[in-house]
Amino acid sequence: MSDIKIAFDRAYAAIAILFLMMAQGSLAEEDDSLYQISTIGALMQGVYDGTMTFGELGERGDFGLGTVQALDGEMVAVDGRFYQVKSDGVAYSLSDSMITPFSVVTFFDAEETINLGGRYNLSELQGYLDNSLESDNLFYAIRIDGTFDYVKTRSVPAQEKPYPPLEEAIKGQEIFEFHDVEGTVVGFRCPDYVEGVNVPGYHLHFITLDRKAGGHLLDLEIEDASAKVDSISGFEMDLPENKQFYQADLSDSQEEELERIESNPRE
Ligand SMILES: [Zn+2]
Repeated sequence: MSDIKIAFDRAYAAIAILFLMMAQGSLAEEDDSLYQISTIGALMQGVYDGTMTFGELGERGDFGLGTVQALDGEMVAVDGRFYQVKSDGVAYSLSDSMITPFSVVTFFDAEETINLGGRYNLSELQGYLDNSLESDNLFYAIRIDGTFDYVKTRSVPAQEKPYPPLEEAIKGQEIFEFHDVEGTVVGFRCPDYVEGVNVPGYHLHFITLDRKAGGHLLDLEIEDASAKVDSISGFEMDLPENKQFYQADLSDSQEEELERIESNPRE
């Protein structure tokens, strides 16, 4: 009887350890993964109808960026909260039932803080980070909290069907400038090989500390910044299951158009 009980106890212990190992393994994976819905190429082609809710997206990350159904503004996710910066420049809380056509998220877990002594504009900041980040071939989530001397953002108005391509849609963008503003830069640096799938290089959004305004980051000036960085080696993507996506022509990665869209198309 006692021999049998010991054997059972051992079996239970072995099973318990196995489950613990599995749980830890899956947590580690989840922590270190970039998740995106749709492709940047599809967004550029005007695939603005989403299939995923922000409630579902929130299960895949607490930090990131993207846009909202019908390209209605710039999305910023920070500390597990999802915001929509509309073309009036105001950041609204997104409800779980609202839908996104393109978003990129991760569970942000800073591994490293990069201190930038001195004064930087956006391209200088990116250059400094380029030199500091270990690999060109990993994904990095980047978060900068601080007081910014200057921030320039944009947002885009909601589009109507038939949807125009992104380069056309952003001709209606609104530009916002902030001076001496506290806030958070939220975004990613992706490897060059993601062309067509995501944005190679930096894609950053901004939200003020009171979470009331922000947008897609076009420029900034900051002194003595510190950037929190999370390196990411996992990648997961879901594709929109709708006719618009199925029929989009995604054969061209459109890298020049993308560069114009992501930087400042008016300059
Ligand atoms: Zn953006």
